[in-house]
Amino acid sequence: MRIDGIEKYKEVGLKLTPQRLAILKFLEGNKEHPSADEIYKAVSKKFPTMSFATVYNTLESLRRFGQVMELNFDPYKKRFDPNPKPHHHVICVRCQKILDIQNEFSLKPPQIESEEFEIIGNHIEFYGICSKCKNESGA
Ligand code: ZN
Ligand code: MN
Repeated sequence: MRIDGIEKYKEVGLKLTPQRLAILKFLEGNKEHPSADEIYKAVSKKFPTMSFATVYNTLESLRRFGQVMELNFDPYKKRFDPNPKPHHHVICVRCQKILDIQNEFSLKPPQIESEEFEIIGNHIEFYGICSKCKNESGA
């Protein structure tokens, strides 16, 4: 997350506490698509008084301000993505590792028979098996 991410966070009137800053720092450039629990575990190493609620609420406000994307393919374990650029994902069906797909590929939006919607974006989840899981399956 660049500085303007932090600025935006301040703009909306949220106090940038050291704990929240630590969460922002952990997310900055993080490509692991961590869950709230994983973020909590990592950040509470440095801030033992950090509560899970702080992590959760910080993620929730970042999400509301478009600073993180919430990935919901696993309803029991939401994952968070600080990459603000539109991109797609490939997910390992065994270990749930997530990889960004930055390649542009053409996608023709479906014809929608209604004026209720105007399509403004898309997010595609591909499923696969990562190389680690593939090797472990005994090739
Ligand atoms: Zn895997
Ligand atoms: Mn991503």
